Amino acid sequence: MRSERMVVQAARLAFFGVLFAGMGLAGAAPDSFPLASDVRLGGDEAQTRFVMDLTRKIDLHVFTLADPYRVIVDIPQVNFRLPPKAGESGRGLIKAFRFGLVMPGGSRIVIDLTKPARVDKAFVVDPADGVPARLVLELAVTDRENFLRKIAFDQRFVRPQTAPSREQQTSGDARPLVVLDPGHGGIDTGTKGPNGQMEKDIVLDVAMRLRDKVESFGKYRVMLTRSEDTFVPLAERVRFAREAGAALFISIHADSLPRREGDAQGATVYTLSETATDPAAARLAEQENRADVIAGVDLKDQPEDVAGILIDLAQRETKTFSVQFAQKLVGTIKQTIRLHKEPLKSAGFRVLRAPDVPSVLVELGYISNKEDLQLLSSDGWRDRTAKSMAAAIDGYFSTPLAGARAGSN
Ligand code: ZN
Repeated sequence: MRSERMVVQAARLAFFGVLFAGMGLAGAAPDSFPLASDVRLGGDEAQTRFVMDLTRKIDLHVFTLADPYRVIVDIPQVNFRLPPKAGESGRGLIKAFRFGLVMPGGSRIVIDLTKPARVDKAFVVDPADGVPARLVLELAVTDRENFLRKIAFDQRFVRPQTAPSREQQTSGDARPLVVLDPGHGGIDTGTKGPNGQMEKDIVLDVAMRLRDKVESFGKYRVMLTRSEDTFVPLAERVRFAREAGAALFISIHADSLPRREGDAQGATVYTLSETATDPAAARLAEQENRADVIAGVDLKDQPEDVAGILIDLAQRETKTFSVQFAQKLVGTIKQTIRLHKEPLKSAGFRVLRAPDVPSVLVELGYISNKEDLQLLSSDGWRDRTAKSMAAAIDGYFSTPLAGARAGSN
C-alpha cells in the first residue's frame, strides 16, 4: 500500500516538475508570475461554475479528494490579488475555497464542496480583446459512490515514478541537531488576526530568530522544516526530523481560541499523548492536525508508520525526553514571557509523532487575545522569546541525561 501512495505523491511532484521545466521559473521575479485578479461563482446546488481571471493562460491539473469532499486545482505559481474575503463563503456546490503556494513554483486552489460533485469541465481560456484569461471549472452534483470511484480511477493511471528521496544529512558534524518547525505555511495560513496578521508569518519569524540564537552558541546544528512561505505536510515535517537525525524537534505555533472558551493568554508547551490533558488541548490538536486537509493533501497518502508505535520502548524513552525538555522550556521562558495558567499540556498532535525524536509543540500565545497579539507582533518580544527558548535548549542539552541521548544520535 505504502509504495502506491508514494507513487501518487511522486507523480504529483513530477507534474509540478514538468510545469516548472516548461516555465523556467528558477529565480523568476515575483512580478513575472501570472496574476489572479478576480474570482466569481455562479450556478446552484446542481451545477456550479468557478471562474478565476488571470493575466495569462496557465496549465492546470485537477483532482478530487474525499472526507471532506474537495476539488484540488494545481497550477504553476500565481500571485493572488483577489478581493479580500474571497473564498470565505461559497455558492451552490462550493462551500468555500482557499488558494496559495504549496511549494516554490507551485500554487494550489482547494475548493471545499457542500456535497459530492464531479468536475465536468476544467480549462483555461486564452485572453482576447481586453478580456483576461479565465480559469473555468464546471462542477455537477454526483453521489458518494461515483465520487469515490472517480478518485480510484484517476489513481490507477498514475505512472510509476521513483520517489524523490531527501538527501541524508551526513555532514560528519557530531553536534546535536535541533529541528525547528514553523507551523503552517503557503496555502495554510494558520490563525488570522483581526488586521490580517497570519500565524504562518509570526511563527516563521520567531523560528528564524531562534535558529540564529541557537547557532550562535556554536554547539548545535539547526535546521528548519520550512524557511519560506510554503506548505509542508505534517508527516513530511516528522520525516524530515527523523531522516536528518534530529536530537530535538520543536514545532512553533500561535493559535486562537473560540470565543466561548474564554479569553486565554500566554504560552503553552505541548507533548504528545493519546489522551489529551483537557478538552481544549484535544480541540487544539484536532485543529492543528487539519493542516493537511486545509492544503488539499490526501491523508491516505500519508505514511502511517509512526502512528502505531506509541507503546514501543523507544517511544517511551523519547517521551521521557520530550517531557524533560518541555519542563525545561517552561521553567526557562517563564522568566521572560507570560505563560498560560496551565503551561504544560499534552494531546495527540500528528507533528509530534516521531518515535525516536524528542518533540514538543509550543503555542507562543493566542492570536485571538488582544494583548498576546500585540506581543506576538512586536520585534522586541519575538527576540526575547527566541533568546529565552535558546537558553532552554542549551540548558536541556547540558543536563547529563539529554546530553547522553544527543551523543548517541
Ligand atoms: Zn498553528
